[in-house]
Amino acid sequence: MSETLESAVKAVCSECGNDRERMMDIVRAIQGKFGCVSSEAMDMIAKQLATHRVEVESVVSFYSFLSDRPKGKVVIRLCDDIIDEMAGSADVANAFATELGIGIGETTADGKITLEHTPCIGMCDQVPAAMVNDVVVTNLTPAKVKDIVAKLKADVDADLVDAPGDGNNANDLVKAMVQNNIQQSGDVIFAGMEPGAAIKKALEMAPKDVIAEVTKSKLRGRGGAGFPTGLKWKFTSDAPGAEKFVLCNADEGEPGTFKDRVILTEQPDMMFEGMTVAGYAIDASTGVVYLRAEYAYLREYLESVLARRRSDGLLGKSVCGKDGFDFDIRIQMGAGAYICGEETALISSCEGLRGDPKNRPPFPAQEGYKAGPTTVNNVETFCCCARVMEKGADWFAGIGDGQSVGTKLLSISGDCGKPGIYEVPFGITVDEMLKMCGAKDTAAVQVGGASGQMIGKNDFGRKICYDDLATGGSIMIFNSKRDLLKVAEKFMEFFVDESCGYCTPCRAGNVLLLNALKTILAGKGEASDLEYIETLGNTVIKASRCGLGQTSPNPILTTLKNFRPAYEALLVAPSKDGYQVSFDIKAAVGDAAAIAGRDSVHAY
Ligand code: SF4
Repeated sequence: MSETLESAVKAVCSECGNDRERMMDIVRAIQGKFGCVSSEAMDMIAKQLATHRVEVESVVSFYSFLSDRPKGKVVIRLCDDIIDEMAGSADVANAFATELGIGIGETTADGKITLEHTPCIGMCDQVPAAMVNDVVVTNLTPAKVKDIVAKLKADVDADLVDAPGDGNNANDLVKAMVQNNIQQSGDVIFAGMEPGAAIKKALEMAPKDVIAEVTKSKLRGRGGAGFPTGLKWKFTSDAPGAEKFVLCNADEGEPGTFKDRVILTEQPDMMFEGMTVAGYAIDASTGVVYLRAEYAYLREYLESVLARRRSDGLLGKSVCGKDGFDFDIRIQMGAGAYICGEETALISSCEGLRGDPKNRPPFPAQEGYKAGPTTVNNVETFCCCARVMEKGADWFAGIGDGQSVGTKLLSISGDCGKPGIYEVPFGITVDEMLKMCGAKDTAAVQVGGASGQMIGKNDFGRKICYDDLATGGSIMIFNSKRDLLKVAEKFMEFFVDESCGYCTPCRAGNVLLLNALKTILAGKGEASDLEYIETLGNTVIKASRCGLGQTSPNPILTTLKNFRPAYEALLVAPSKDGYQVSFDIKAAVGDAAAIAGRDSVHAY
C-alpha cells in the first residue's frame, strides 16, 4: 500500500510539473485515489514538491472535500441548506441513514460508503439534492434513496442517472440528471452567439478601445459587489506587471444561487469568449476558471469546449490569426469552501494555498494571481462582456432601467410554482418577480442569498437593481407558514461554519450572534438581547476583513429590522429580582464542575 501510495504521489506530482502552486490538483487527485490525503501522503507530497509539510496540511485541513482520514470509496454529501430542508431533506437524510445503517458523518463498516452533510450544492430548484462523489442526484425522496443505496451496495461505481436532464445535461460528457429549468430567456445571456463573434469584433479595435466600449456599456459585475467592469479592466491594464491574468469566478456558493451552473452547462462558449476578450483588453495570455467542486460533473464537458476552441483558433497562439495575441484558459477545481467565492481567497486557492482572503490594498487589479495584475470577474459578467462586444455598448446600455443596465439572471427557489432561472431586465419589482414565478401567500423574500437581506410585503414594490435591491442572483421565497427566525438561524449556522477564522469579529462575533438568536428562539431572550444583537452585528460588519464577515450578520439584522414583531413575540420580561433570564448558571459552570469532578447543581 505504501509503495502504491508513493508511486501515485510521484506520478501525480510529476503530472503537475512538481509545481507547489498546483497543490489543489495534487491533493484532490490523491484524495480521489485513496479516499483521503493521509499523514504519510502529506509527507510524500511535501518531499516531492520540495516544500514544507505544513504547506500540504494547511490545504488539506481547509477544504471540506479533502480529508486526512479515510472516507468511503463513495462519499454521499446531502445538501442541508434551508430550501432542501423545506422540501424534506430530513426525511431523505433519515432514509440514507436507515438504508446504510450509519449516521451522518459515519462510514459503513465495509469502508465503502460515507454519509455527510454539505452546504448548498447549487441545486435549489430541484431539491432535495445530494452529491454521490461527483454525481448529482436531485428531487430525492425516501423511495429514491432506497434505490440509490441498493445500487451502490451492489456496485460502488453504479450508474445512478436513469434519465439525463435537458440540454447539455444529456451530453455524453455530462450525463447528469440535473435540469436547467430555464423559465425565462433574455437577449443577453440565453440568446445565440456564433463562437468567435465577440473576439473578432474586439480584435478590430485597440485594447484600450475595447475597455472604453465595456466602460461605455455601464456593465457592472454580476457577482454581487457590482464594481464597474470597464474600470476594473482599466486598472488591470494600467497596472505595471510583466504578466497579467484573467480569472473567472465559477465558485457560486451563495445559498440559493445556481444560475452560473446553467450558464456553464448551456453557454460556456460565451463565458470563454468574454474571458478571451478580457485577455486581449488587459494584455494577458493566461486565463483560469475556478470551478467549484460541486460542479465537477461539468468539468469534462468544459474541457472539451476548450479543446474545440483551441482547434478552431479561438484559443492558443495568435487567437483568430491576430499576431502577438496568445491566450489560453485552464480550469482550476475548488474543493468545497464558500469563502473561495471571495476574489482574493479564490486567488489564494488558485495559487495552491488555503482559501484565505488577502489584505487589500493591493487590490487584485494591482497585484493578484502570482503577484501579477489580475482581473477577476464572474461567469455571468464575462458572458455580458462577450455580448457587449458583439452587439455594442449602446445596445447593451439600452436594456434595464438606465442606471442598472443589461439583464440579470435570477436563481429563484423556495415557495413558488416555477423555481428555476429567469433572465430579466434590471428594474423589475419584487411583486412582478413573484407573479412571474408563481409564488403565492409570500411572507418574505431573501434577496441576495444568505448574505443578502430578508424583506417583507412592505418592500415588494421595490426594484431589483444595483441601487435598490442588489443581488448576485439568489432569490429565496418563504410563505406565511415558514418560521423566518429559523431561516435566519440556518443562515447564521452557515456563516459560523464557513468563516475562515482569521479575524476575531467574524470568527467569534458570528458565534455570539447565533447564540443570542438561539436564546431568543428558546424563549429565554429579553428586550436587551435585541439591542445586543444590533450592536454586535454592526460591529462584526465594520470590523471584519472580507466580504463574508461584512455581510454575515445580515440574516439577523435584516429579519430584526423587517420582522421585529416575530422576535418580540418570543421575548420574556426581565426577572423582578434583576437576574438575567437567559443566563443559565448550571450550563455556565458545567465545564468547571466536570473538571473538578463535582455535581454542577452543587458547584455554585
Ligand atoms: Fe475570514 Fe471572516 Fe475575516 Fe473574512 S471576515 S477574513 S471570512 S474571519
